Amino acid sequence: MKKLEKDRLSAFLQQIGEEMPLFVPVQKEEGAVFTRWSPEVTPQLGAVRTVRSPKDLFFPQCEALYTLKTEQGKLQIAPQKRAEEPFAVFGMRGCDARALQVLDQVFLTEPVDTFYKARRENGVLLTLACRRPDTACFCTVFQNDPADPLGDVCLVEGDTCFFLMAKTEKGQAFLDRFASFLTPCEEPDENACRKEQANIRAIAARLPLRDLSLEGWGPGQTDARFSDPRWDTLSKNCLGCGTCTFVCPVCQCYDLHDYDTGHGVIHYRCWDSCMYEDFTRMSAGNNRPTRMQRYRQRFMHKLVYGPENNNGMYGCVGCGRCVVKCPSSLHIVQVLRKMRKEEEHAKL
Ligand code: SF4
Ligand code: SF4
Repeated sequence: MKKLEKDRLSAFLQQIGEEMPLFVPVQKEEGAVFTRWSPEVTPQLGAVRTVRSPKDLFFPQCEALYTLKTEQGKLQIAPQKRAEEPFAVFGMRGCDARALQVLDQVFLTEPVDTFYKARRENGVLLTLACRRPDTACFCTVFQNDPADPLGDVCLVEGDTCFFLMAKTEKGQAFLDRFASFLTPCEEPDENACRKEQANIRAIAARLPLRDLSLEGWGPGQTDARFSDPRWDTLSKNCLGCGTCTFVCPVCQCYDLHDYDTGHGVIHYRCWDSCMYEDFTRMSAGNNRPTRMQRYRQRFMHKLVYGPENNNGMYGCVGCGRCVVKCPSSLHIVQVLRKMRKEEEHAKL
């Protein structure tokens, strides 16, 4: 374990930012947003969640895949370059790092998404334990430990310093590269770090959403959950705005389009939302024509089909973004709570 004194944080980030693209949370009008570091930027490390997750840095909202051109009457295909340059993400939360593990299951199994893969290989995740998890957080329901986040290097904030632990070889190489800013930890430092982690776990154990139950969800529940009549009432006030999918660190649906630039055609992909009426519309129409079907799909994907197909991994990490952003409060917590409440009631 190493430590970084807080008064050296700026110099540490500056050195990283001069050697590679570095992304940090920065306070904007709409909330904290991951932004490329520059000397003018002030990192906001107190925000428990950014408006959008750092998923964008690995799976951008819009990206070109290849360009078509005709030259001397022949069709040329110019593939898009993959990420080659190392970059770092500082201040990512454990839930968002866990979300990347879920995305790995989707994008890194055959057929591998080479765009995502290149970014994952080049990105270094410096995650930060959540000193102040809030009332919308429920990451522990999905086996996250907010005091010991996943990532390449995990940081725990103390009163005067950050404690840093390498979790991967990539993380160790990163700490070695910037070792001049770090000092080794002695036993009192390790005790101080453990105390901070114990405080975080104690806060997490008191959060109002800590006891959400996943009973009745997961692999093998398709038949029981799919035909549940309660989807009708639950989905009634959904606006189909797609906010929940766009802020979610795990949602990964996208659409493919072509854009005619006037001297070629760019084939690109951009995020899409299963909550939209025209999502996956085909020549024969849409296979989920009703709002209820679309709403049900989102939660069945996260809570049943996802874990069934991805070694038990749920498609939610409890980051709380949809909880704070859904304009109709029809988020995943409502689904879990309302269905559970009625089931418990029925048992009485
Ligand atoms: S569940 Fe909420 S955020 Fe999602 S589409 Fe419906 S209204 Fe919008
Ligand atoms: S479903 Fe909601 S709480 Fe779960 S990961 Fe997505 S945005 Fe976060």
